[in-house]
Amino acid sequence: MQKVLYPGSFDPFTLGHADIVKRALGLFDEVVIAVGYNEQKTGWKSVEERVEAIRKLYKDEPRVRVESYTGLTVDFAKKLGAAAIIRGVRTAADFEYEVQMADVNRQLTGIETILLPASPQLASLSSSIVRELAHFGHDISAFLP
Ligand code: ADP
Repeated sequence: MQKVLYPGSFDPFTLGHADIVKRALGLFDEVVIAVGYNEQKTGWKSVEERVEAIRKLYKDEPRVRVESYTGLTVDFAKKLGAAAIIRGVRTAADFEYEVQMADVNRQLTGIETILLPASPQLASLSSSIVRELAHFGHDISAFLP
């Protein structure tokens, strides 16, 4: 039973994120979506609201679990007994950052990071852009699963 950790702020959880979860389910038995706390960043929705919204989406999918966590992602991955960490890659800039992060994570704990490509038609959906649209009163329902 191999589980994988998919961490992020998910503020909000978009169609692009759901697409990565789908890819990850093709590779692993269980995907744990992990909503990270970041004290410096106050989000659009609270972490509790984000967890609730994502749980609702996957209520009929027993292979997906949704949790929140504080602290280092690698520590949470170890605690869960995750086989690896999944990250979605949208852009070349994402790729550079994620490769460095993956290297640090491996050096810290030996845990491997798997980078999955964002589907081209969904790659422009970043949480921060969707959050900004919502902040200014735009209807964002078309971007959400
Ligand atoms: P973080 O602040 O950790 O990057 P996000 O919630 O923005 O948190 O993203 C969580 C994960 O989802 C990251 O691996 C990010 O690269 C990936 N991601 C973000 N937007 C998309 C998208 N449109 N398609 C696929 N993956 C995405």
